[in-house]
Parts: sequence; structure tokens; C-alpha cells
Amino acid sequence: MPRKRRKNRFGNHLLTFLFICIIFLLFYAFKNPILLYSSNPVIEINQDYDPSSNIQQVFYHADSDVKISGNVNTAKVGEYTITYQLNNYKKTCIISVKDTQAPVLKVKSYKTDLVEDVKPEAFVKSVKDDSKVALSFKGKVSKDTEQTVTIVAKDVYGNYSMKDAKLTLVEDHKKPVIEKSTIHVYTGSKPNYKSYLKITDDLDQKPKIKINSSNVNTKKDGTYKLSVTATDRSGNKAKAKIKVIVEQPKKVVYMTFDDGPSENTDKILKILKKYDAKATFFVTGNNQKYNSSIKKAYKQGNTIALHTYTHDYATVYSSIDAYFEDLQKISDMVKNIIGKAPKYIRFPGGSSNMVSANYSDGIMTKLESMVRENGYEYFDWNCSSGDAASNSVSAQTIIDNSTNCNYDQIMILFHDSSPKTTTVEALPKIIENYKERGYVFKAISKDTPEFHHDVNN
Ligand SMILES: [Zn+2]
Repeated sequence: MPRKRRKNRFGNHLLTFLFICIIFLLFYAFKNPILLYSSNPVIEINQDYDPSSNIQQVFYHADSDVKISGNVNTAKVGEYTITYQLNNYKKTCIISVKDTQAPVLKVKSYKTDLVEDVKPEAFVKSVKDDSKVALSFKGKVSKDTEQTVTIVAKDVYGNYSMKDAKLTLVEDHKKPVIEKSTIHVYTGSKPNYKSYLKITDDLDQKPKIKINSSNVNTKKDGTYKLSVTATDRSGNKAKAKIKVIVEQPKKVVYMTFDDGPSENTDKILKILKKYDAKATFFVTGNNQKYNSSIKKAYKQGNTIALHTYTHDYATVYSSIDAYFEDLQKISDMVKNIIGKAPKYIRFPGGSSNMVSANYSDGIMTKLESMVRENGYEYFDWNCSSGDAASNSVSAQTIIDNSTNCNYDQIMILFHDSSPKTTTVEALPKIIENYKERGYVFKAISKDTPEFHHDVNN
């Protein structure tokens, strides 16, 4: 029987040992209640990541009792600290956001002349990556008329992909083509002729253009000839005389933008520049980080006019004094930017607004004459883009509203505040529409007729 007794004794030792282990584990888990899958998870850039998914087990508590703090910016490569806290116990992990994927590159063949300094960009149909990508050639581009080049797309983290593309070099004997449509400009304007010209070349995207306008007198009505020369990279030269008609505009559109500046102002200016159109900006003091756009608009030949400093109806229309105090503030702001105080204004809500009646009875009737006595001229509108109806009026609705006006002198109301992205989207179509109908675009000046609503308060 001694053998059996020994076995029992061994069994008892084992049980005791296991018991101690369990007690120890329970105690350890009590002291360290949060168990994570990883203390340094690695995730790919732009992948969704929920830090709670890193919790493997929470002892003696529910997972939801754990407070998670810290932020992971999955859009940016870097290391982010996340803290998991349960009562007084804290556990941190470092989450690494990495970019390990090579760019996805699609290429196309390219044909050009012998002169161009060919860049890898010319072969790229598309390149997609979560980080910034640089393009280069593997090896050198030769002067061979037919060759295969290898395009390398490498992101800032060193991931790269390569694609072969065909390059064809030809001798260019074809000159650029200058389209000869008549240019209409109005008397007294300073047209940017380049914006009216359509010049193309089979191989050179940007032929050199020389314009001689010395025979055009924009101060006097008449028909003139503009001399245009276009030369491509290979030296092929095209010459043309373009008819320019200078005349007093019979049909004018005054585009006006209220409530700016905003992040949309520069986009509007770019479109105006492209179409050589001028407009008027009735500005506020509400978004001053974009005030440099006011200067830009002014330098581009647009008119800067005053709307309101606060655009808060309750303040502006609380009294005559309050109105002029607000106007003075926006006037001072603009004077600081462009060096002079504008004299053209637009009342918040227009002169026909009824909202002012909530704050001062009859205030618009008084202001309407008082602003003029103080040297200002106010402008309402006779055509509304309808972009103020909501923040997401469709571009098509704005185009329809804005092009539906048929007067000889049109003043369109637009808004230049941050949410009005569809206004920017609609603008090119609106300008094209009126240009086709023979209108010119002017900014408000001393020659601008009155656009006044009936006063309702
Ligand atoms: Zn406004």
C-alpha cells in the first residue's frame, strides 16, 4: 500500500499548487483588470479604428466600464497614445498609424515634339495613395523617337510602384491654331484679351502668346484689329488679326456677393478672372481670417462695398445710432484693408426687409434717406439667385433662378458665406449664359443705376 499513499500525497501537492496558482491569477487579474490584445497595435493609414476593439478582457467589470481617452488620427501617420482607465487602474497603449501600401499608378503613352523637357507627369493617367507621392523616371529619357520609359511613383514613406509607358517624339512642323471670333468689349474697360482668345496646338499645351493691342482704343466706340501671335515650343508661329468691337454696353449684369469674405471668395475670384468679369462684394466683419481675399478682390478690379459688421439684425436695427455704429465699424475694417472707405452699401436683408420692424418701427424709412445724406448710396437687387433659401440649394436651381432675369440692367444677389459652395459651382454657367445673351459684367461704380426696393418698414 505505500505506493498508493505516495500517489495520493503527490496528488495533494498538485492540487495545492494549482489552488495557489488560481489564487495568484485571480489576485493578479484583480490588480490588473484590463487585458489588451496588443500594447502597440499597428494600423494602416485611413483605416477605421476603434480603440475599444483592442480590449481582450476586462476582469470583474463590464467592458463598458472602461474609460478610453486619447485620439487616433487615422488620416495621419504617427504614434498615438490611448489610455484605458478602470477606476484608479490605468493602462496605456501606443497605436502606430503607418502607410505601407505602394501608390496605385495608371499610365498612358505620350507623344510630343523633340524640344519638350518631358516630365513623368505627362504619362500619368491617375495615381492614388494615402500619402504624398513624388513621380520620377527610372533611368533617363533619350532622344530616340520611339522608346519605353519607366515611371516611378513613390510615397513619402518609401513605398513605390513602377509602370512602363511608351514615349513617341516627333518633329513638329504644325503651327498653333488661333480661333478668330470677334471680341466685344465695352467702352472705358481694360479688357484682358487673353481670356477671350482660344489658341490650341497639337503638341504644345501652352504655346507662347503675344498680343499687340496698340491699334485698339477702348476709350472710343469703334471696330479695331488686335494682332495676335502664337508660337509653339518648336518655333512654329501663327499670326492672326482679331476683330475687336468697342461699344457702350446696352445690357449689363451686376453680380453682387453678400456676407463674405469666406473660404469661397478666392474660388469666386478665380472664376471672375477666367471670364474677365467684374463683380461687387458687400462684406461683413464676421469672417476676418479671410480678409486678405477682400484685398485680392479689390486688386482684381472688383468693387468692395459695405454690408454690415455683425449681420445681427437685433443689434443693427435696434436704433439709428446702432445702425450707423455697425456701418462705421465695417467701414473702418475695409479702409484698413484697401486704403479707402467704400460709399456703396447694402442693408442687411435689403431696404425692403421686414425683420427690422421687430426691433425699431419705421427704421428703414428713416435710414433710406439718412444713409444718402451721409454720402452713401445703397443697392438692392432685381434678380435673386435664391442661394439664401437654404445651405444646400442645388447648383442647377441657382443657375435657373439667376439666368431667368430679362432686364437690360440686372443686379443679381448671391451669397459668399462658407456653406454656399453650390453658388460657386453655379457661377460659370450663369456667366456663360449672360455672355451668350450679349451682356457685359460690371462692378458697381458711380455710373451704376439705382436698384431700390420699396421700403416696408
Ligand atoms: Zn446678408
